[in-house]
Amino acid sequence: MKLGQRLRFIRKQNKFTLKDLSEISDLSVPYLSDMERGVVNPSIDALQKVAMAYKISVKELISDVEGLGESSNTNYPEEFQSFLNEYETTYKIENDWKELLLKINFRGRQPNSKTEWLELYFYLKRILSPKEEIIDRKAIMNHMKRQVNGLVKNVIDQYSSTTIPSIDEICSGLKLDLKEDLLQDGLDGMHTGKTIVINSKIQSEERKRFTLFHEVTHYLIEKDEDLISELHEYTFNQEDGYKRPLEALCNFGAAEFLMPSKEFKRLYEKNGLNVQLIPFAAKHFRSSTIAATIQLAQVAPNRCIAVICEKGLIPNDKVPSNSPILTTENKSQNKLKMHVVYSASSPSANRWLAKYTVIPDDHIVNQAYSQTKMLEGETDVPFPGWKERCICEALYNRNKVFALFHLTPPPNPNQMTLL
Ligand SMILES: [Zn+2]
Repeated sequence: MKLGQRLRFIRKQNKFTLKDLSEISDLSVPYLSDMERGVVNPSIDALQKVAMAYKISVKELISDVEGLGESSNTNYPEEFQSFLNEYETTYKIENDWKELLLKINFRGRQPNSKTEWLELYFYLKRILSPKEEIIDRKAIMNHMKRQVNGLVKNVIDQYSSTTIPSIDEICSGLKLDLKEDLLQDGLDGMHTGKTIVINSKIQSEERKRFTLFHEVTHYLIEKDEDLISELHEYTFNQEDGYKRPLEALCNFGAAEFLMPSKEFKRLYEKNGLNVQLIPFAAKHFRSSTIAATIQLAQVAPNRCIAVICEKGLIPNDKVPSNSPILTTENKSQNKLKMHVVYSASSPSANRWLAKYTVIPDDHIVNQAYSQTKMLEGETDVPFPGWKERCICEALYNRNKVFALFHLTPPPNPNQMTLL
């Protein structure tokens, strides 16, 4: 089978249309079509995206491609031949590898020096090596969350005299110093060694407590080598390293301090999975709605995403490149847009909504905002460039909208009491 035929075969096997594949892989329909017709040599990035769309490795994707090892070296490009002359024996480059190299584009074209061929060879070797096989990120994230949960529980058991700990008890137990200082804008808190610093500009007590426990979690994770190495593993090929998942874990830890999941589950079992649980739990635990959003998502048995939305300006550098609002019209008008300020996904959900994701004007979330009430209905999840239906509960509350996007049906409230 030729590469193009193989790509087509796998797509058919997965019952994907070109459009389906295009949406998931972020490659254009014409490009995918050209790949299948053998008009273009796909780039490594493109092959990786396609493989990821089918949740297989690049190696599997190209496994049945025939012709590997068939062609004779007489028609090799000149630079390729000199690359082989120099490195073939050292790196034991097999015939199938030679064929593969010739089939793939590097930086949009075929390499044209022996150094570039070598670079491509190493790049391919790296992405095809077993170590780089697709990792189950969702499972790793859930595992890390469980570990953070355990760290927090241990600390509460050891140092707190109450179910919901006071920050003073925890800090003195862990021998941490607490300070308030003027920090740069956008930075709520930080910690260096055993000192935690909170930005003195923060007015809200809820936010202060959340930040404090967020920093305490940073401290706990930092000391846990297993967790740190798991974070490395989780993000080894990500440009911005493990900063983002680490922040998510620290928020998760803060929520666990402020609303221990055992206590939160009790509220949930009494009230059911309902968006109203977010402001209700925040009030009940005298804590932030962010913590309530995190814990609500965590107890949800179905695939669901809990979000906090606000109307405001989207900073220009925060507009995602594939966002529908990035049209010249919207860019120049700088309109106030309803957007996600915080989101948390249930353990079984494999997608999430990034901060600053824009909610379309006609979305039920916007309707709840303008009518200042609670609405429920079937709608699209506002994933940029991806369509997925959901049942949405949207609740207006003090200039914010809390929403639950149920990607699979929410649990039946009548069954809940039986569990
Ligand atoms: Zn942090």
